[in-house]
Amino acid sequence: QTYLADIPLGAPDAILGIAENFKKCTDPNKVNVCIGAYRDENGKPWILPSVRAAEKIMMDDENENKEYASIAGDAAYVEQAIKFAYGQDCDLSVIAAVQTLSGTGACRIGGEFLSKFFPVKKIYIPDPTWGNHIAIFQEAGMEVVRYRYYNRATNGLDLEGMLEDITNAPDGAVVLLHACAHNPTGCDPTKEQWKTISDLIKKKNLQVFFDSAYQGFASGDAEADAFALRYFVEEGHNVMLAQSFAKNFGLYGERCGTLSFVTNDADEKERVLSQVKKIIRPMYSSPPIHGSSIVRTVLTDEQLTKQYYEECAFMANRIGSMRKLLVDELKKAGSTHDWSHITSQIGMFAYTGMNSDMCDELTSKSSIFLTRDGRISLAGLNENNVSYVAKAIHAVTD
Ligand code: PLP
Repeated sequence: QTYLADIPLGAPDAILGIAENFKKCTDPNKVNVCIGAYRDENGKPWILPSVRAAEKIMMDDENENKEYASIAGDAAYVEQAIKFAYGQDCDLSVIAAVQTLSGTGACRIGGEFLSKFFPVKKIYIPDPTWGNHIAIFQEAGMEVVRYRYYNRATNGLDLEGMLEDITNAPDGAVVLLHACAHNPTGCDPTKEQWKTISDLIKKKNLQVFFDSAYQGFASGDAEADAFALRYFVEEGHNVMLAQSFAKNFGLYGERCGTLSFVTNDADEKERVLSQVKKIIRPMYSSPPIHGSSIVRTVLTDEQLTKQYYEECAFMANRIGSMRKLLVDELKKAGSTHDWSHITSQIGMFAYTGMNSDMCDELTSKSSIFLTRDGRISLAGLNENNVSYVAKAIHAVTD
């Protein structure tokens, strides 16, 4: 019995650990703006009505079953998911794609593939980025290098720094790009800037790895949010893509995503796919089927698809209105700081610029739970708590 006795205590996860503390907190005024999950105007989780409708169709369908999916998942789902990302007219004959355990699983399988087959085992990741990226790619055997992304002084993209760091990457290295609604900064390149980034990456012969966890959450329109991905493909990049349906379909716990590769031809596609399947099989055999059945059911039904797009826009708009309200309430509370970056950022988060001490104080004094980088999930705000949060922010930033 001595084997377990020596196991050291691991540090809690930076984000999920805070969520645990929120659950334990007994303050009736507590606010959770830590985790990137949509909440309705009453602070409650929301199942999209189109998702509920799809589940009802599935339940009533006598042909539904609970059989294993294949290693690569539900092919009909994967096809719909790929069209959703790359566009209805994309060339499926050259896109190797598998169903994954949401975006995290897609990044991890992608990382395993890169470390197994790529000669340069280096992945360039923005600074800052979603915290889990670093561990995912390191655990997969990649060396993680950071490129400059955000300028805290201007609260905007550090394009110059980004281009300089990418220029210094070795030939054949991988560059991870957030497809839209960059987490945590809410700051995306403009179309012109994407073109500059694409040109440089092409010139440098680097492998692009898109992480798309918020398609639809940036602008409210999933088509518009696919701009960067589709532009890179048009420009001839053989991109890889990790796609998640957690946020835009509200399917967080269903673990539903895809990993895909734009290849040069059908033969290459088959070879890539065969190797991805060889990575998946000893890891978890095959993915869960409920979430993917929902996405397939919605996206193969014209009416439900239309409804879904409206519901996604509704979520994005509610978040957008919280941005404005938060800034209004900060002013009302007496803050004279320039908070305009909060309204110019997009997606689920406000990257406020508060330092870790201010964040700690918000939590200890006001039971507002957020990550220590000053990121606030706007989905956690609503008309009932935004003024409380604004006053507390003003108190720690004044
Ligand atoms: N990528 C980014 C940038 C994210 O913010 C997230 C979730 O917060 C993910 C990927 C993965 O999420 P999931 O595994 O729930 O799809």
